[in-house]
Amino acid sequence: MPDPVLADAAGLVAAAGRVAVLTGAGISTESGIPDFRGPDGLWTRDPAARRLSTLAAYQADPALRRRAWRLRAEHPAWTAEPNRAHRSLVGLERAGRLLALLTQNVDGLHQLAGSAPALVVELHGTLTETVCLSCAARAPMQDALDRVAAGEDDPACTGCGGVLKSATVSFGQRLERAVFRRAIEASAACDLMLVAGSSLTVQPAAGLVRLAVAAGAAAVICNAEPTPYDGMATAVVRGRLGDLLPALLDSVR
Ligand code: NAD
Repeated sequence: MPDPVLADAAGLVAAAGRVAVLTGAGISTESGIPDFRGPDGLWTRDPAARRLSTLAAYQADPALRRRAWRLRAEHPAWTAEPNRAHRSLVGLERAGRLLALLTQNVDGLHQLAGSAPALVVELHGTLTETVCLSCAARAPMQDALDRVAAGEDDPACTGCGGVLKSATVSFGQRLERAVFRRAIEASAACDLMLVAGSSLTVQPAAGLVRLAVAAGAAAVICNAEPTPYDGMATAVVRGRLGDLLPALLDSVR
């Protein structure tokens, strides 16, 4: 391993017994799912698309919901395959070092790669279910997508007629309390926080890094671009995650 920064980071990973991993959209771009804020990100290319993830706009604007359903129907997550970065985290788990896999992603690729669902904490929910914004009923996303394919452009809740949305956390919505509590516990108990593919600009998820460091953990941030938390990290590694994570985690196997 010629790169000294990578070698330092690999040393930190090799020395860690309890690793909390925090992943973001950047770990899935090599699987063909665009991120939001990277150079080819959805919001970088189309800043107006941010409204799709804003609860108040989604509730108030039927045209926005129709666009959201069209995008959900053709979302790349339905056909995406996990990449080398997702799979390398399964190796960390098999080595008995993974405390929790905290993910901001909603695409389910960690579980598809073989990560134990019990260790995956989906901070921002999941695309695989819908939730009714009136009665909170949850249902498989496929049911709603079947209705969209059959011609409904804004399917409503079959129970109460309320507005349906993917079971993901939009701007203006709180994270589920029990889910975030698990993330806090893992961040406070880890001896290494490994961040992969996040701009670390979405709170409160990004704040887990500060929490871990304050509790005495080392932090390794792997991302293509700088993040606001790089200054408090023990090591910052730049590059493509499909190369970086296997290189970092090889020594653990
Ligand atoms: P983000 O878009 O804000 O940041 C992604 C970061 O990953 C960027 O800094 C980018 O430079 C980096 N990156 C992209 N591809 C990379 C690669 N191959 N190797 C290394 N780095 C790479 O994403 P975020 O921090 O996760 O926050 C945005 C929100 O977007 C999250 O809440 C998440 O729920 C949501 N989101 C999820 C998905 C998904 O589930 N796959 C996709 C888009 C957005």
